Formats: sequence, structure tokens, C-alpha cells
Amino acid sequence: MLNRAEKQPLCLFIIFSLLLLGASWSWGGFKPPVASDQSSVLHVKDSQATVSEKLKVIASAAGAASPIATVVEHLHRLNTTNGYLSKDRHKVETNSFWLAEYNLPWRIQINPLRGNYMPKLPRYRETLASQCKICDHNIESEKKPNLRAYDFTLNDQKYFLQESPFPMLKNHLVLIPHEHSRMRADQQNVEDGLDFVSQAPEYTFASNSCYFWTGCSIPGHHHYQAYYSGNEQEKPLPIYLASVALDDEQQEMIRYTEDHGVSLSVLHFPAAVVLLAGEDTEAIAGQAGQLIRTWKKKDRNQNTVNLLIRKKGESYEVRIILRSARYRPPKHLLSIKSEPMGWLELAGMLVMPQPKTEKIRERLISEGEETIQDFMRSINPFKNSQAILELVEKSLHDSP
Ligand SMILES: [Zn+2]
Repeated sequence: MLNRAEKQPLCLFIIFSLLLLGASWSWGGFKPPVASDQSSVLHVKDSQATVSEKLKVIASAAGAASPIATVVEHLHRLNTTNGYLSKDRHKVETNSFWLAEYNLPWRIQINPLRGNYMPKLPRYRETLASQCKICDHNIESEKKPNLRAYDFTLNDQKYFLQESPFPMLKNHLVLIPHEHSRMRADQQNVEDGLDFVSQAPEYTFASNSCYFWTGCSIPGHHHYQAYYSGNEQEKPLPIYLASVALDDEQQEMIRYTEDHGVSLSVLHFPAAVVLLAGEDTEAIAGQAGQLIRTWKKKDRNQNTVNLLIRKKGESYEVRIILRSARYRPPKHLLSIKSEPMGWLELAGMLVMPQPKTEKIRERLISEGEETIQDFMRSINPFKNSQAILELVEKSLHDSP
């Protein structure tokens, strides 16, 4: 039996242990807001000016630890409550297919938000800034009252970021320069992408191109996209699972810059992809720019690129997808997807509008692998990996 004096510390110990247990349980089940200061929490009725001020405070509180990723978490919370992001975004249906030839999975996403995205085939025309759908005058406008954005800089140019109203991936962002200027695809895109992933290493940066049929959705105003890829639990896009292509002697198709600062690998993949990797951003951007110029020179005003850029540890990876506006899906494929294929489709996720009937949907699923192969064959300007390797070798010898 314990006497009273012995019981007291024991009771205190039990109470203290229970308190600790309770605290750790609540921490495990509840993620505290990143900014503890209530004055910087975003509210539905906040104007863009207020949102800008609060996001600045949030970004500076996050310090060196990825202010952009922290800011986007706050913006995302606001966008889910203020009605900017449609509830229909959860109705997405994703099916996976195995492409045996490449030993890779591929996805088809049926996305109801893409239903009326581009009902007709595209036709290019110059867009005036006043009619532009992504210029900064759209923020808080009559047509987009809930659109809020965050100002930041990319290589000293003023940009703002906003969540995509048609998200296809986690925290899908659009990165837009304040200046209204035409879409382009060149070395500057690579430099901007490298700067963005340096600022937000949890994100993957993507760039479409400057010509229709090669993933050019808004030609009048330059822009990029990005999505959250920092969680190891997230399934990587198939382009990140591709191996290096082999030559006739079963050697990997890898070449290096003269100083070995950058490696260039041709990927075994249904689209024409070259992976550039290294730790020196200036060297990668320079070599990527040279490859883009060598490719464009072969067929001016037709050849272009899509880009995917990420940071992995200390290394930077630039995937250049070689595109040509001459290579388009045939009519029977356009009847199921009229929107030209962009970087996301070529990276391994075919995004489809909601099929008009259940029968079409069932056919799409049952013939998924053939549909993917047909789409990918129709847009690839290269006959084989050897031809891509020859372009890589030429770019290593071309002078800027
Ligand atoms: Zn614009």
C-alpha cells in the first residue's frame, strides 16, 4: 500500500503523462496553420490588396524555407472556401494503362471541367491586352470576382501566380508575367524554370510552347505552369519513370558537355524527350538553349519545345520535349479530344473532356492503351531514339 506522501507524486506523474499523450495525439491529427498570427489568415471577403499584404507577411515569416510553397497553401485554402475552385474538380476519373513497349504506366484523366474548354479547333489571332484572359486586370474583376494572386519575381521580371481554375494536378498553378507579351519557348523559359524550382523546390515547373498543336493554349500572353510534387507519396508522372534509351550495342544514349558539367540523355519514351541534368544552372540553361536552337533551326516556325523542370537534391533536371506543329492527331482522334496536346499529355496523362455518352466512355477505357499509342505516335516528329541522339550530338557541336 502507498501512503499519502508517495501517492501525490504518482498522481502528478499520471496527470502529466495523460496531458502529454493528449497533446501528441492532437498534434498528430491536426496540422497547425503555417502562420500563427491570425491577422495574416486570408478571409473570403479580403480584397486583392489585403490578400497581397497578408501573403507578403506569410512569405517573410516562412523565411528561406520555400515562401512560395507556404503562400500557395494559404491561397489554396482561400480558393476552396471562396468558390474560386469548383467542387466538380473532385469528380475527376483517372484510369491507368500499361504501355508494355516502354514498361511504363500511362494515365487517362476524364475531367468534367474540361468539357467545354475548347469545343472548336483553335485558330490563332493576336490578343489585345484589354481582351486578354490572363492579364492582371482579371484579378478581382467582374468576371472573376474571387480570383486572387501572389506577386513574385522570376529572374528579376515581375510575375504573379494564381491557382488554375481547371486543376489537373495537386496545387496546379499558373505563373504569369505582369507584362502582356506573346508566348515564347526558348532558353529564357529554361532560365525561368530553374529560378522557380530554386525558389520552390517542392514544385515541378512546366512550359507549353508558342505554336498551336504543340501545347499552346494562350498564345497572346506568356505564362508557365507548376504543380506540387514534393510529397513522395504522390505518384510521379510517367515521364519521371522513363529509363534511358539504348543503342544497337545496348549502350545508354547519354552524352556530356565538354566540361562534363551537364549530362544529356535520350529517354525511352513515346514522346521525343531529352533529359539534361547537373548542378550548375547556368551550364544547364546554356546547353538546353543550344539544343532548343538546333531543333528550331531544322524547321523554323514549326519546331518548338515543351519543358518540365525540377530540382532533385542538389541536382537540376530539365526535360525537353521536342515538338513540331506539323505533327497533329488525325481526325478520328480529334473527335474524342479536340484540344491540342500539351506538356501534361506528353508527360503521361491524357486529359479528356467528359464523354458525351456512357458507351463512348466505356470504349475509351476498354481501348485506352491503343488510344494512348495512337495519340503519341501522331505527335512524335522523330522516327526513333537514334535520330534524337543525332540532334543532341549536333547541339553539342553547334556554337550559340
Ligand atoms: Zn495579357
